Amino acid sequence: MTQINYISTRNKQNRVTASQAILKGIAEDGGLYVPEIMPKMNFDWNELKDKNYQAIATEVLSLFLTDYTETEIEFCVNQAYDSKFTDERIVPLVNVKDDVFSLELFHGSTIAFKDMALSILPHLMTLAAKKQQIDDEIVILTATSGDTGKAAMAGFANVPGTRIVVFYPKEGVSEIQRLQMVTQKGENTKVVAIEGNFDDAQTEVKNILNDEKLREDLKNKGFRFSSANSINIGRLTPQVAYYVYGYAQLVKLDRVVAGQEIDIVVPTGNFGNILAAYYAKNIGVPIRNLICASNQNNVLVDFFNNGHYDRKRSFFVTNSPSMDILVSSNLERLVFDLTGGNDKATAKFMSELSNLGEYKITAKMYDKLHDFYAYYADEEQTLKTIKNYFNQYQYLMDPHTAVAFSVYDQYKADNANLVQVPTLIASTASPYKFPLSVMSAFNIAEKRNDFVLVEAINQLSGMPVPEAVAEIINAPILHDNTSSINGMIEQVLNFLNV
Ligand SMILES: *Cc1c(COP(=O)(O)O)cnc(C)c1O
Repeated sequence: MTQINYISTRNKQNRVTASQAILKGIAEDGGLYVPEIMPKMNFDWNELKDKNYQAIATEVLSLFLTDYTETEIEFCVNQAYDSKFTDERIVPLVNVKDDVFSLELFHGSTIAFKDMALSILPHLMTLAAKKQQIDDEIVILTATSGDTGKAAMAGFANVPGTRIVVFYPKEGVSEIQRLQMVTQKGENTKVVAIEGNFDDAQTEVKNILNDEKLREDLKNKGFRFSSANSINIGRLTPQVAYYVYGYAQLVKLDRVVAGQEIDIVVPTGNFGNILAAYYAKNIGVPIRNLICASNQNNVLVDFFNNGHYDRKRSFFVTNSPSMDILVSSNLERLVFDLTGGNDKATAKFMSELSNLGEYKITAKMYDKLHDFYAYYADEEQTLKTIKNYFNQYQYLMDPHTAVAFSVYDQYKADNANLVQVPTLIASTASPYKFPLSVMSAFNIAEKRNDFVLVEAINQLSGMPVPEAVAEIINAPILHDNTSSINGMIEQVLNFLNV
């Protein structure tokens, strides 16, 4: 198997192995690690269609994480994708209508798709530390727009040799999301509400991770920072697996002939999930178009429509809060590819973004985006989609997934000239995680609290209430910290007792 190294998007000389990249999270020059060459998978779909999720994940990860042995990867996969998932298929595929399939990524312990990557990341990371013979304590810093925080803590809580600090925007997350975080057990966990939005938190986390002096200081005290955000390749690569699995299932169901192209729609925030779909296409999954679905924070829609990334715009708190993001970090990896792997050019775009708040890619780069489409759904369209799909197809979805279904309908109406192909829509959260928005789609009084609305969802849909929701109803609040953006560093240092 080809050895795959990882290089920084901002300096190609900065070259590390997979396990080093997973430990570091972000490159020291501020860039993101990308595979130096894209591995190619030898797909025999007729064989893959009969493999279970764990087997496919092992194959895909072995392709990307070449300094792990297959036994090590298998171990991590089996620890991650086990009975924590309430569906033994791990990622069930639901045929919602015609050729449209919902790829349900929310059956893990925190009922959002972040579990797909964050249930395996801690295992990959502690193994990486062993491989690198590091015995510093690993301190995970995580900015969350709502779902990453809980999923990361579920993964790292009580993992020896690790600590985790989660920062979430005080305004914006759903009540269930908040309660999931502030009731988190585990001596090694800390949760802080911040006075700012996700972008502010993510920027400050990156600043802390990139502070050389701080890094040195903490190293002397036996600590080493890493990140559980989707910039970590230990999160990105496990996400590629479910697109391979989804395609294999379509073959199994006789809905595609092996090799026939499909479209994929992804509700997008930090651009991690859709980038994984793009990587799946690059390793050889027959994917035609990648459809980026945004909410009212539609900075990516403009980028895909005119090549101009401009974050200088109003920030909206929407009913799909995990997508309330104006600086989609993982887009840097796509931009790097569009430049033909030009680190200097990528670094320049990114410094324009941080200094001027915008950049414009060249016409030559823009031409390479022909397989990307982008649309957005506003609040009203999102709620309407929840209601219509339930009434018409008895499929109840969360608001993030509804953004994707709305966008699918727009894409289809707008591109009547395209041949109709089977479509996978990434379904990223359980409706139980966002009861207020889901039930307001059915005009159920907004004043009721989330747990009453949970009952209402149960009555409406007949879907069992997930353990993830049941367990927080009476759980004690264990975290009650609030901080300004500038105070985040202080929160970290206090927690480490340094
Ligand atoms: C994180 C998240 C998204 C956005 O995914 P990205 O990888 O950040 O683009 C969409 N929906 C839900 C429910 C999420 O938690």
